[in-house]
Amino acid sequence: MSAPAPPRILLLEDDPAIARTVAFTLQREGLAVEQVLLLGEARRLLLAGPLPALAILDIGLPDGNGLALCRELRQSGQSALARLPVMMLTAHNEEIDRVLGLELGADDYLSKPFSPRELVARVRALLRRAALQALPAERAAPLFELDEAGQRVHFSGQPLALTRLEYGLLRALLAAPGRILSREALFSAVWGPHSEAIDRTVDTHVKTLRAKLRAQRPELELIATHRGMGYELVLPPAAH
Ligand code: CA
Repeated sequence: MSAPAPPRILLLEDDPAIARTVAFTLQREGLAVEQVLLLGEARRLLLAGPLPALAILDIGLPDGNGLALCRELRQSGQSALARLPVMMLTAHNEEIDRVLGLELGADDYLSKPFSPRELVARVRALLRRAALQALPAERAAPLFELDEAGQRVHFSGQPLALTRLEYGLLRALLAAPGRILSREALFSAVWGPHSEAIDRTVDTHVKTLRAKLRAQRPELELIATHRGMGYELVLPPAAH
């Protein structure tokens, strides 16, 4: 089995240094990049198809303005072209104003200079969003079906055999798809903000410790329980 073809990105950028950085960064992420220098080339490629997964368009180009191409795409009668994810590369704040203010239909923009990390994050986000929008069938038959009452999950139409804690973890992850959940957040989501699991572990060990102390000095109550708060070691006056 061959691996699926990597998503293809059309990059319209006439500045060789920026184009190189963008191409290198995205290729390192496993994406295929097709770079063109001229508006005319980009237009030809887009009209000829097959369409890329995303178009990254510079604004100031030798043969015109990238915003014009974005507008053409959005006004295109072809729905695939009209829906093509577009990210504009802007060099000036005035351009950002125009991208946003004129509502030319770009999905996102990056101001130069930008970090490779920011580029990758934005591109990934756009590709994810486009993939979700392109899958109405998938949404009709969701990948995960959660039965909250029965604490069961169907995955891809099949029941998933999960422990209670695995169920809790998956449930917490499903509640926030596309978001990074810290270990603390997951712990708190699964075990509760005031963790009974921690309490029980502590309780168990306090109990065995208490038993060992009592075995030697049954007349002393050395470990006091404070309900809802914790434990206290209470030393008799003579022992201070
Ligand atoms: Ca340029």
